[in-house]
Amino acid sequence: MNDEQISLFDIAPAEPATPSGFDPELIPTSAKIPIPTGTYQTMEQMGAHCNRCHRCDLGASRTRAVIGRGNLNAPIMIVGEGPGQTEDETGMPFVGRSGQLLDRILASVHLTTEEHVFICNVVKCRPPENRTPTTDEAEACRGYLSEQIRMVDPKIILLTGATAMKTLVGIKQGITKVRGQWIEKDDRFYMPIFHPAYLLRNQSKEKGQPKWLMWQDIQAVRAKLDEVLAS
Ligand code: SF4
Repeated sequence: MNDEQISLFDIAPAEPATPSGFDPELIPTSAKIPIPTGTYQTMEQMGAHCNRCHRCDLGASRTRAVIGRGNLNAPIMIVGEGPGQTEDETGMPFVGRSGQLLDRILASVHLTTEEHVFICNVVKCRPPENRTPTTDEAEACRGYLSEQIRMVDPKIILLTGATAMKTLVGIKQGITKVRGQWIEKDDRFYMPIFHPAYLLRNQSKEKGQPKWLMWQDIQAVRAKLDEVLAS
């Protein structure tokens, strides 16, 4: 990773923004109230609601909601599970060692968050002790994720973690069985991939090992993007 890439992480924690036109009366506070498609015009507007949201219990313990980072019109979206401690403190998803590894993986096939990729999570607030979000929490937050997909409108969505696979494509199988497979749905291409934290725990680059498999998958993603952009 070069200095320029590392400097991407030198972002000071920002206070939750209050965009113009923000109406606190419109914050959907109960998970029973749906978030209609088209509720938000901008990610900033949605972020302001998330920072005041209590549709699930995660709202009670968050420092700040973590909305996303990257190009707001990216052709690729990466969806993780939920924010960890560093993310909760900085308001940025996939920072720290996992995030740096993810950026290096993307850079290996010339993909960047400035141009090609937007990164976010299924739940916007940190689950305590970094536990997996419950189905109820994922469902409560789902409307925000749907709005993000609508606004960014990516052609390719990469899913990291069981919660993302279950929430977006209904897959309940283990990642090792389904990683690298394309699922076509609603005019988008979805692919489950290993979580970078898993790769940090499995350092071998031997053929057939997680890092080697990730290298195959990210090359397939690059090829799919080139195909989509050319069509
Ligand atoms: S995780 Fe989502 S639904 Fe739950 S409080 Fe945070 S923004 Fe609201």
